Amino acid sequence: METIKNYIDGAYVTPQSNEWLDNFNPSNGEVYSKIANSNSTDVENAYTAAHAAFPSWSNTTINERSKILLRIADLIEQNLDKLAEAESKDNGKPLNLAKAIDIPRASSNFRFFGNAITQFASEAHESVGLNTMNYTLRQPIGVVGCISPWNLPLYLFTWKVAPAIAAGNCVVAKPSEVTPMTAYLLGEILTEAGLPKGVLNIVHGTGPKTGQAIIEHPNIKAISFTGGTATGAHIARTAAPMFKKLSLELGGKNPNLIFADCDYDKMLSVTVKSSFANQGQICLCGSRIYVETSIFEQFKNDFVAKVSVLKIGNPADAETNIGALVSQPHLEKVENYIKIAQEEGGTILCGGKRVKVKGLENGYYLQPTVIEIKDNKCRVNQEEIFGPVVTIMSFKTEDEALAMANDVKYGLSSTIWTNNLNRTMRLSKELQAGIVWVNTWLNRDLRTPFGGIKESGVGREGGFEALKFFTEAKNVCISYSD
Ligand code: NAD
Repeated sequence: METIKNYIDGAYVTPQSNEWLDNFNPSNGEVYSKIANSNSTDVENAYTAAHAAFPSWSNTTINERSKILLRIADLIEQNLDKLAEAESKDNGKPLNLAKAIDIPRASSNFRFFGNAITQFASEAHESVGLNTMNYTLRQPIGVVGCISPWNLPLYLFTWKVAPAIAAGNCVVAKPSEVTPMTAYLLGEILTEAGLPKGVLNIVHGTGPKTGQAIIEHPNIKAISFTGGTATGAHIARTAAPMFKKLSLELGGKNPNLIFADCDYDKMLSVTVKSSFANQGQICLCGSRIYVETSIFEQFKNDFVAKVSVLKIGNPADAETNIGALVSQPHLEKVENYIKIAQEEGGTILCGGKRVKVKGLENGYYLQPTVIEIKDNKCRVNQEEIFGPVVTIMSFKTEDEALAMANDVKYGLSSTIWTNNLNRTMRLSKELQAGIVWVNTWLNRDLRTPFGGIKESGVGREGGFEALKFFTEAKNVCISYSD
């Protein structure tokens, strides 16, 4: 059975803890590898390697850093099939999705930041009349921590580590203990690409043990975290007394507002995706669907008809639309919400049941589920489920739709379907979210800022925002008066 070891100082090493966790294949429920459960000594070793590498890496020319990042991007592309298979097996997501989205995006993350760092120039401001010239130094922070979740494993892991090292930092990074495989495989690629040892160190293990050791480390000065809101709050509390810089990308409960004047066919097919892509386990999924009354019945029928024919099955099969959920506990959590929905008076329009896939009877499969609700405040419509479950409800006016959309504690993304430009402009300003998609979903230009408001997070990633997060700005003011 394969063992997932740490990658520290450019080499795979057995954890000092000598503790190992089971790694499950969600498609069949079997343990197929063992993961290091690293302790604070392992994190300290990773920190020591990063700290030692920092003086040289932070002084490496931008061109040289860029070249190495671009080489990593190429190698990810060359290993697309292997990485996609590993991602699908580890996470339960359809192999086709891993091939089309997860792994290409991991490569793009390195390519984008490998190029962006060459454009990330200092600003200068001449204070005319005062005879002073100001310029801003953007200096790497030192050793930074990156912690990522299980839903888009390599995609989100690289979204953090690529800008961190591009900006000249050295990193202690931890992928989710639920999906460690592709971050583990990345180690080989980093070595082959010639990334100097110690620049990126990858430690595996649980949040409370390994993650906690990273966030408590007094000399890891910044933490970029993506994960649940409760974990984000815990990290903020832990980091505050040490004045660590934080970027927190947290949960969502995103509204999808559908107006009668939209392009109906496009809306319908994209809404199936925005509801159930990756088994609904994307923080940006539009899990609350609000539909204008005049098309509500038609939408309900058409949507349920399309959802009911989605193919649930072996993630490795080319025709599979819905793979397995990531773990048994997560499956149980999502099922529990379906029970809560019924107790709250919701109507299950389709789905709601576990599925036994032939030959994979112990896998974690659940039907995509559509629940009609009557009360915007019901738990199933307010709390993040993070699975293949959406709620639907009708609205009469734009104001009512807006009020319901904003009436949650989250503020990550939102989608509007309309061909009315004035309405688009009004709603885009008023929706409480870090992203507003109009007549589309999940389109991401990596130059644009990404992040949430309210309990969906603090800070922005993407483009120069990420490079700003991973650097400290220093103002230098020079007088040229005699
Ligand atoms: P999680 O918060 O349980 O875990 C995320 C990561 O944090 C894991 O690596 C975990 O081991 C680690 N962790 C847990 N406890 C820790 C601690 N005490 N100290 C340090 N690290 C700790 O989240 P999850 O279940 O892996 O992911 C699902 C959540 O992630 C959902 O809420 C989803 O919305 C969110 N998410 C947000 C975004 C975004 O960009 N906003 C993207 C993807 C996922």
